[in-house]
Amino acid sequence: MGLFDWFVGDLECPACGVLSPADGRTNAQTKLRDKPYQMELAAGDELLVTRASALDAGYVPNDPFPPGDDLRILQTWECPSCGAPFNWLQVVVRDGRILSVEAVSPDPDVLAAAHYIDEEALRLLKPPA
Ligand SMILES: [Zn+2]
Repeated sequence: MGLFDWFVGDLECPACGVLSPADGRTNAQTKLRDKPYQMELAAGDELLVTRASALDAGYVPNDPFPPGDDLRILQTWECPSCGAPFNWLQVVVRDGRILSVEAVSPDPDVLAAAHYIDEEALRLLKPPA
């Protein structure tokens, strides 16, 4: 069990509609930083993402990359209010800094626009085995 950070933002739950607090309670764990240490990563924070660091952190590259200079990362979060465990959030990174962290719907268009996808988020698209 290693260390990790969390992506945080004002995330609206698609199940119950409650706006979650922008903190680690949404459990959007990530190991994208070089030395994760339970930091809360929000819009405005620095985040350097390379293909190697994303692979290391358990993200799947969406090849070939969709166009555009921003990096979009998909991963799951949990609603601290109703407990819905498999929501998606999208992190947009521009010039090495987090531009936004937003709840998104788990649909194919959102997936197609992403550059790196959390393995757990990918599982949501497939029926459980
Ligand atoms: Zn909820």
